[in-house]
Amino acid sequence: MTEARAAYLSLGANLGNREETLRETVRRLAAADGVKTLAVSSLYETEPWGKKDQPSFLNIAVSLQTTLSPEELLALTQAVETELGRVRHERWGPRTIDVDILHVEGVERNSPTLTLPHPYMTERAFVLVPLAEITPDLVVKGRTVEEWRKLADDGGVIRVAGPEWIDVDGGARF
Ligand code: ADP
Ligand code: MG
Repeated sequence: MTEARAAYLSLGANLGNREETLRETVRRLAAADGVKTLAVSSLYETEPWGKKDQPSFLNIAVSLQTTLSPEELLALTQAVETELGRVRHERWGPRTIDVDILHVEGVERNSPTLTLPHPYMTERAFVLVPLAEITPDLVVKGRTVEEWRKLADDGGVIRVAGPEWIDVDGGARF
């Protein structure tokens, strides 16, 4: 069996019942073969920037332990995105959930379908604020996540619920 590795994800939702969509996404990822959830951040709301006439986002970070390859993990996250995008909204409606793989321990990838570490993770406050909560000391691209967070302008990222918004470790799921 392949050795398990830590992987870090960023999840965002800005349509429909955003909190429930995030919760269901984490549940489905955690229930997949070869995946265990280690930590889920608090819930953060991010005001839309650039194009202002859209709903604000809810963002979280999740850390996993996984025996899946990075490519298998991407296939899993895309399958969950598709399932929830289809289930929750009208047929041709916009996507309700975005799952980005930020980093997989010891892994680099440089193709358009999978770039690791994620090319923008060190610039985006809505990624760094939740991630710094669950793994401040992780080193990515030469700095810790906490150092990257301090460099980002995090004014538009508001913590709207503590980590109790989701209970992934409860029960017998793992
Ligand atoms: P975005 O996340 O940039 O808003 P999408 O979610 O539609 O846009 O992703 C576009 C493509 O990015 C996906 O088809 C996927 O193959 C690719 N991609 C490259 N690197 C990554 C990564 N680290 N995590 C997730 N998707 C990635
Ligand atoms: Mg994406």
